[in-house]
Amino acid sequence: MLIKTAAVLRADELALALQRWLVRCGGSPSMLAVEMHETPERDQHLFRRQLEWAVRHFTLVDLAAFAQLWQQARLDPKSVASAKPPLLFTFDDGRMSNYTVAARLLESFDTRGVFFVVPQFVKCDPEHVRQYYYSRIDTRQQAPNLPDEEICPMNPEQIADLAGRGHSVGNHTYSHVNLATVSENELHHEIVDSAIQIAAWTGQPVDAFAWTFSWASITPVAWRMIQQHHRFCFAPCPGTVNCRLDSPSLIWRTEVELSYLPPDYRFMFSGLADPLWRSTRERLRSLLRPHVPT
Ligand SMILES: [Zn+2]
Repeated sequence: MLIKTAAVLRADELALALQRWLVRCGGSPSMLAVEMHETPERDQHLFRRQLEWAVRHFTLVDLAAFAQLWQQARLDPKSVASAKPPLLFTFDDGRMSNYTVAARLLESFDTRGVFFVVPQFVKCDPEHVRQYYYSRIDTRQQAPNLPDEEICPMNPEQIADLAGRGHSVGNHTYSHVNLATVSENELHHEIVDSAIQIAAWTGQPVDAFAWTFSWASITPVAWRMIQQHHRFCFAPCPGTVNCRLDSPSLIWRTEVELSYLPPDYRFMFSGLADPLWRSTRERLRSLLRPHVPT
């Protein structure tokens, strides 16, 4: 009801206009990173519809531009005050449909995404993919029974091709593990060996890491290891990035799926849902404060 009312009143567009006015008045610029999962062929028109709405309100950026604009906004907020806020699309788990559908659509909007892959999933035998997917990737009790094409991982050649086309390939742990449940030795394998494998496929450094599962799985010791090996760490917690207060080692991501109806994705893109997770973001900041560089 709240989301429907917000759409009728165009509260999403008002909220975005208010954010830009506040930046022009000296407030901190903001940015948005979106987290997506499956992008099946049959729903590609839904992604196109979201992109058409997003491009009217945001500047679609790749990871390099996201980082560069963040730095610029910190040093000279006025220089970005008249521009639409940057929006970065990210995709978790390394599904084949991200390669066949999402990457191509992003390119048609002249932008690039970040694709977080899981090396053990990439290496999975075709006959074990379904079992792996439902035991490691989508572990919900009521997970939908998806067709084979939607649970297939990208292969190493496709990962290399994405990197060659200007997309970023990031680390999402070696085996899609909950990092709060593993020993320090296993942490090294899940974080560092995973990055080494991905870099071997892409021929490029792995700059970005995306946390698996929920904020309850974030621990300072794992966080510290991730920071030592990656420039950016994306958190499993929604929110708009505040360019002045936030850190590249704790980047909020807002989940928006292709199945969302326009009132739902507009509500999420515009930050109207942010207050729901304010206390979680504060809790994570204070948990990791000794480890987050200023
Ligand atoms: Zn995941």
